Amino acid sequence: MEASLSSSDSPVVPLKCENCATALAADSKFCPGCSYPVGGSEEQKMQFRIRIVRNKELIKASKEKIQTAKIIMYVLSGLTLLQGLYQGFAEDNFNGMVVNWLVAFIYLIMVAWADKNPFAATLSVFILFITVNLVNAFFFPATLFSGIILKIIVIGGLIKGISSAKQAQDSLNELEKVKAANNRDREL
Ligand SMILES: [Zn+2]
Repeated sequence: MEASLSSSDSPVVPLKCENCATALAADSKFCPGCSYPVGGSEEQKMQFRIRIVRNKELIKASKEKIQTAKIIMYVLSGLTLLQGLYQGFAEDNFNGMVVNWLVAFIYLIMVAWADKNPFAATLSVFILFITVNLVNAFFFPATLFSGIILKIIVIGGLIKGISSAKQAQDSLNELEKVKAANNRDREL
């Protein structure tokens, strides 16, 4: 009789977190390991579990989309590197080689940046690609149409990459909101 009274009047704090099994102090309101509201209401606990599931979905979705964008940027970087090789060794165009390798290197930096800022990174690669081609076409008009099919394929790929990166960015932004909501709950 006594036991049932005490369990309905005040929530019994378990000694281990129900969510991650971290050891808890008797008066814990939140798990120090995972922020689970051990002292909270069933409603709060359920909200927490829903957020964890949503977090996992968001992380998975953003990773897949970022991967797509990164592969497209890797391919472009590789193509630019090859173009530099071709210019340097087949055309004896040393400057062209250096410029292409530099651009290929910048693409790689953008790939690394894409984990944090997929949308900005992919968009930067797109803008750089267009700029390089326009500058080239300005000084050497004949280059605009050389390899035009490949250029169109690259632009198509980059547009796909940007759209993929945008979706990843949306997931990352929502993830930040979920984190902020969890932190807000902790302060209450
Ligand atoms: Zn926990």
